[in-house]
Amino acid sequence: MCEGLVELIGQRAAGRRITGARVRVGTRHAVVGEAFEQAFAIAAAGTPAQDAAVELVVTPLTVACHSCGGRNESLDVLAVCARCGSADVDVSGGDELVLESIDFGQERADVPGHPR
Ligand SMILES: [Zn+2]
Repeated sequence: MCEGLVELIGQRAAGRRITGARVRVGTRHAVVGEAFEQAFAIAAAGTPAQDAAVELVVTPLTVACHSCGGRNESLDVLAVCARCGSADVDVSGGDELVLESIDFGQERADVPGHPR
């Protein structure tokens, strides 16, 4: 997952140095901050994204309960119904992985006298 993300960032960067990126990621990917940062650092090593600070915006999944008919959102992949506690639920959504924005910092492409 991080490899694809790094590749995507690299394409957008077009040679520019990247200082940060914001990624919207669904709960279903079950990435927790530190594990994601490590995986990203490994995947980004040697690419324009290697110094990027990645901000994760975790989006919830939807839990639909068969027992009480309730619907709620959860940041837990193993969610149960928030209303009645039943585990007889359908879980949907929460599987997105979207690159929201990239921060190129102060540096711009085509700075005279600073060929990369
Ligand atoms: Zn319920």
